[in-house]
Order: sequence, then structure tokens, then C-alpha cells
Amino acid sequence: GLDPWTHQPKKGDYVTNLKLTDIGKTRSLEADEVLIKVKAVGICGSDVHYWTAGRGARFAVEEKMVLGHEGAGEIVEVGTKVDNVSVGDRVAFEPGFATQEDELTKNGRYNLSKVFFCATPPDDGCLCEYFVHKASCCYVMPHGMSYEVGAMIEPLSVGIHAAKRARVEPGQKVLITGAGPIGLVSAIAASARGAGEIVLTDVIDSRLELARSLGFKTVNVMSKTRDRILLELDHKFDAVMECTGRTECMQLAIYAAKPGSTVVLVGLAPRDKMYELPIMLASVQEIDIRGVFRYCNTWPAGITIAQKYQKEIEALISHRFTLDQFEEAFELALSGKCMKVMFSLE
Ligand code: NAD
Ligand code: ZN
Repeated sequence: GLDPWTHQPKKGDYVTNLKLTDIGKTRSLEADEVLIKVKAVGICGSDVHYWTAGRGARFAVEEKMVLGHEGAGEIVEVGTKVDNVSVGDRVAFEPGFATQEDELTKNGRYNLSKVFFCATPPDDGCLCEYFVHKASCCYVMPHGMSYEVGAMIEPLSVGIHAAKRARVEPGQKVLITGAGPIGLVSAIAASARGAGEIVLTDVIDSRLELARSLGFKTVNVMSKTRDRILLELDHKFDAVMECTGRTECMQLAIYAAKPGSTVVLVGLAPRDKMYELPIMLASVQEIDIRGVFRYCNTWPAGITIAQKYQKEIEALISHRFTLDQFEEAFELALSGKCMKVMFSLE
């Protein structure tokens, strides 16, 4: 077969666009593994980051690594003990799983424990033709769901987990700062939990236009003072989902939150960065500030929500590429002139 590592990356020395990998062909599957013929993979901001910088917030890419963690595909081989999926099944797969048993995994919060996670160094991702994965990470997609929508269950899961952490309840008013892919999937997840009003902020009109086309309210905050933004937002919110990682948005999130409400910080930044936040305001108003790290136990609900919100989720996919167009796809994702960039391997 083709040696995957002879496909040299064109940018940096740490990522690769494998067209063929014989993982799974050079070794037999473990009893609990499956071989997936990958059909769709979305590009995430972290993939772009690894591609350009060779590192993420915490993880440096020391060896070449396959990118991609938003995937779906067809099962082509199963290990001897696999009973949840069969050859021929169309599956969406969770990119991570716990690699040790501890208190966190026992209580279901495995996202906070030690995990294997696609395209987080040193773990290879799924942007390749064939991918070996734990069968337990694979979920059969309903008939009629496209592989692309299946791949979107990964980012959607971030939104589902965030909306859960934000304790969004039916009829509530929810504010989301940032209308990127994560802000939008958070809006969809809040809607799925029954939110009554969902408002997104951003500084890019085209992103807000997309949000409006999906039925959400928007405020463009470009060059506006916080007081002006609060005035335009008109009222305070039962839950705020911060999806930019920017200081001014975290500040706004606390100012826009009702007393007794919840703010979740979904946007990421370096761990040791210090922030200037109105923390006493949050304290005396009993505003709960909660963190969000990826997700746990979201795929079953993700499939149901993706089916119900199929039209909205499809609308987030702005561009489609084949694996041959790897460079072009990543250049576009880097430019930011897109929403979700999707590889179609069908
Ligand atoms: P993105 O960069 O596409 O979206 C961020 C959006 O914020 C952009 O549309 C940008 O225009 C907008 N923005 C910039 N300044 C703003 C301002 N002052 N007010 C309002 N909006 C503003 O990124 P994304 O892929 O949507 O991800 C959003 C964040 O979520 C990133 O920080 C990412 O790292 C993080 N993330 C976190 C998790 C997690 O597990 N917590 C998972 C995935 C992504
Ligand atoms: Zn991601």
C-alpha cells in the first residue's frame, strides 16, 4: 500500500493530508474496534490552528498528525466483540473516549479525564479515507441523514453540552456572544431545549444574517460601548453562552445576565490568561459562571436534534471540498470567509 507518511504536508511539518492510510489494513482490529470508511469531515478552528501554528492552547504537535475530529462514515469491518454496530452501518462518531477509569469517568464526566481525542496531539484525527475507532464511539445515523449532518453532530455536541451547562429551560431568554459555528450550534441547542428567545451578537454582518435566517435575533456590536449594546439588547437574560473567548464578551455576558442566572464560558483562550471581569457583580447577583470543555454523553441526543434541526444544521455548511483540495479548504478556513468547511469523501 501507499505509505501515508510520504504525503508530506505543504505547510509546516506537523500535519498531513493523508489520502490513504493503511491503518487497519496493516494491523488487525482490536476486539472493541471498527474500521470506518470516512465519508465526511468538518474543519474546526483547532484543526486550522494545528495546521498553521503546529500547536493548540495546551498541546504542541511533535510528530506529524492526521487532522480532523468532526466525522461520519460507513462501518466496513468490526472487531470480534463489537455488537452495537455492523458492517454497512452509516455512523456518526464521537472523536474521544476515556483512556482510564477514575472518579470523573465513573460519574460520566469523562471529558474532564484522560482521553484519546482525534487530532489532539499525539492522537491522530479522522481526516483520512479509513479510520480505526472504538465501536462504542459510533452511533448509527437515521435513514435520510447525510454524512455531512452526521459530522456536524460533533460541533453540535459542544452546543448541547453548553446549553445543558447553562441550564436553559423552556421559554427562557438566551444571549449568545459570537455567531461563529459554535455560537450557532449553541443557539440550535438552546432552541432544542425550548428557549423562548435567542439573541446572538457578532461584529460580522454576514454571520448575523445567517443567524437571522435561522430564526434568531441578532445585534451587531461593532464599535459599540457596553452601555449601548445593553440598551439594544433591551432586557437581561436567563442564560448567557459566551462563544468568542474575548474579554469584552465575557464582561458583557455578566452584565447582560439576570440575577440568579447562568453564564457559560464556551470560548477558549490560553489557560493562564488573566481576565478583568466584574466578578463581584456576578457574586452579589448570584450569577453562576460555569465552564464548558467539549461534551460528554451527547451523541444520542445529538442525533435526535440533528434530525429535527437538519435544515438549520445544513445551513451552517458553507463550503464543500474533496480531500484532493486539502490546501484550498484549509486556506479558506484560515481566511474566516466561511462558516463550516466540510470535506466530502463520498
Ligand atoms: P469563530 O472564530 O468562528 O467564532 C467567533 C465569532 O466571534 C466570530 O464570528 C467573530 O466575528 C465573533 N466576535 C469577535 N468579536 C466579537 C465581539 N466583540 N462580540 C461578539 N462577537 C464577536 O469560532 P467558533 O468555531 O465559532 O468557536 C468559538 C469559540 O469556541 C472559540 O474560542 C473556540 O476555541 C471555542 N470552542 C470551545 C469549545 C469548548 O469545548 N469549550 C469547543 C469548540 C470551540
Ligand atoms: Zn472542534
